[in-house]
Formats: sequence, structure tokens, C-alpha cells
Amino acid sequence: MIEIMNANTELGKKDYYIDSSYSLTIDASDLFVLPAMIDPHVHFRNPGQADKETWSSASKAALFGGITTVFDMPNNIPSCTTKHRLMDKKRIIDEELSRNKIAFRYHLYFGVTAKNIHSISSVKDDIIGLKVFMGSSTGDLLIADDATLEKVFATAKKYNLIIAIHAEDEQYIREKKKLLRSSDPEVHSLIRDPTCALIALRKALYFACMYQTTLYVLHVSTPEEVEEILEAKKKHPRLYIEATPHHLFLNSTYYKKHHTKVVVNPPLRSPERQQRLLQYFTQGCIDALGTDHAPHSLEDKQKPYPNTAAGLPGVESALPLLLNAWNEGTISLKRIIDVTSRNICKIFSLPLQEDLVLIDPRKTKVVRKMYSKAGFSPYEGKKLTGWPVMTICRGVPFMT
Ligand SMILES: [Zn+2]
Repeated sequence: MIEIMNANTELGKKDYYIDSSYSLTIDASDLFVLPAMIDPHVHFRNPGQADKETWSSASKAALFGGITTVFDMPNNIPSCTTKHRLMDKKRIIDEELSRNKIAFRYHLYFGVTAKNIHSISSVKDDIIGLKVFMGSSTGDLLIADDATLEKVFATAKKYNLIIAIHAEDEQYIREKKKLLRSSDPEVHSLIRDPTCALIALRKALYFACMYQTTLYVLHVSTPEEVEEILEAKKKHPRLYIEATPHHLFLNSTYYKKHHTKVVVNPPLRSPERQQRLLQYFTQGCIDALGTDHAPHSLEDKQKPYPNTAAGLPGVESALPLLLNAWNEGTISLKRIIDVTSRNICKIFSLPLQEDLVLIDPRKTKVVRKMYSKAGFSPYEGKKLTGWPVMTICRGVPFMT
């Protein structure tokens, strides 16, 4: 049993009692108890890329960051696009977590391609949602033609499944790449500019409204996208917005310091757009925070542009970034709980989060990579105030 005494809790209860095989009493008088984070957007890489991350390294990184539950994306090698591969992936993850005795929770997305729409019915009860890539981010998972896209939205509605969409327009990217040939990574933000995201988003919203499909828009990176979705929400309320920590706390000026290493899809935006996005986030217009944890080796991050691997790690630093913003008076604790847990449970029809994270709201620490195999974090060396000190998953404590 874990007994947490005197907790300064945001949840309205005084003490928490959790069954587990551990026996532990914590005096939490200087701590906050929050629901542990649910991260609805991660790339934990395995099966297929254990050199970049494993479920052991990634789950420890997540627990360190106050996260006990993740929704993993299907761009594995091979991609998670058949029932057989989905079941294989589950077996591989379960084996790895149990071999390393790690208490953790996960759900899996199913990758939709032009060729596997017929197999959605066979996996519908085993997945958290359908992942649709409209831009060329990841291998063979691209859906770039409208007829196929429409079919996916109709099929998702038929089986009452959520579509999680990566909205960047493929055709637009191809044209812009021809015009902007350069080895300067800042060009990345010009090729995949705000219009690129908006074109794809409008198409997705059109089909979502037409079929009344529940749509979860991944990594919304511009205020224009937020405004477009809020407008469409008047016609179809089941449209949801996710933002990432890097689009909220970083911007295109970071290329100067980190060069290719901050290449990510969608790219970092201007400081002005970043600030407006952050405002929407703190005002409650954005439903969820997804880290889009996408680790790469330092070697892959340092390859000259345009051959740089796109993606940033995020699970270890997301909650400290939010708590630091709370300490600075930018965001309320209620908002943090909404975007990291409550809203996500509602959107994805999950039972309310029972795992907890204990927070030391005044602890100041410099960000240092702990468990992730990622070769680079854009936050490394940054001083943040507000850190998880213990994450409790299924009653099992993970000391940070
Ligand atoms: Zn992603």
C-alpha cells in the first residue's frame, strides 16, 4: 500500500490510498498530487528501431516525466498497418515491459494506408484510433489523394473510431521543395509553412463535418489552425486540437542555436505565432498536450538538411515545462490537468486516470536527458521550476 499524507491536492481529496505490493508512506505536505499524464502522441520506435528507443528506455523516460499512459504511433518498421503486425507489436511491448518489470500503460494507433481500409473492421476493438498522414512525414503511411481520404473518414464513422490526423499537404510540400533548395535548416519552416498545414487541415475538416467523424488534429502548430478548427466546431463539435510542447515553448529562432537538430514536422513557427498558440493553449481553446516524442540519434539529427531526421524527444520535459509556465503565472494547474489527463479521457472514452504524479512545485532543476535514448533535447541545460518527484502507475511508485 502507498499512503500519501498531507498532500496539497488539486483533486479535492486529502489523502490517497493505492493498493500495491509496495509498502510506502510519503509525507507529501510540500507536494502537489495530480493525475499522472496521459500522452496521446508518442513514437516509441519499437518494433524496428531499438537503436533510437526501446519500450524500456521510453517508458522510464515517460515515468520520469510524470506520464504513465501513452498512445503510440504506427510508423514502426514494418509499419503497424495489419492485424497481424498490430498483435505482434502488442506482444513485443508486453514482453519488454514485463521482462523489465515496468508498470506502464499504452494504447496503439493503427496506420491507415490506401491499401488497408478493408482491414479496419478487424482491428477496431484493439486500437485507440486511426492514424492518417496527409503529408510525407513517415514512409509508406501517406494518404495523399482525396478519394481515399474520404473513404477513411466514412469508414471511421461507420466503426465509431477517432481519426488522428497529421495535416500537412503533400502536393504543397513537393512544389515548395522544388522552389526552396537549400541546406539551411531554416528553409524547413518555409517549405512546410502555415499554409501547408492549413490546406490539409481544411480538407480533413471538410470530410469530418461531412461524415460527422470524430477528428483529433495532431500537433496543431499555428494560431490559424486553431481558429479554423474552432469555427468548424460550431457545425461539428467532435473536433479536437492537440498541441506539442515544442510548438508552445520553442520557435524558429532556435535554428540559430540548434541548427538541424530542431528540425521537426510540422516545423517550428515564428515567435509571434508561437506566442498566439500559447495564448490559445492557456485560454482553454486547445484540448490536449501530446509530446510527439520522436527520438533520433544525434548522428541522424545532425545530417545536413534536407536529410536531417525530423522529430524531437518530449516525454521527460513536458510536465516540467508546463509547471514552469505555471510558476511564471502563464497557465493554471486546472488547465494543466485538463490538457494532460481529463480532456484526453473524455475525447478517447477512457476511464478517468487513476495513476498519480507527485509534484514538487518549487523544485528548480536543469533539464538533463535521463532515460530516453534520444541523442538530443532542445531543452537540455534549461532551468525549470516544478518537477515530478514520484510517478505512481498501477500502484507502483517510480522515483524520479
Ligand atoms: Zn508524431
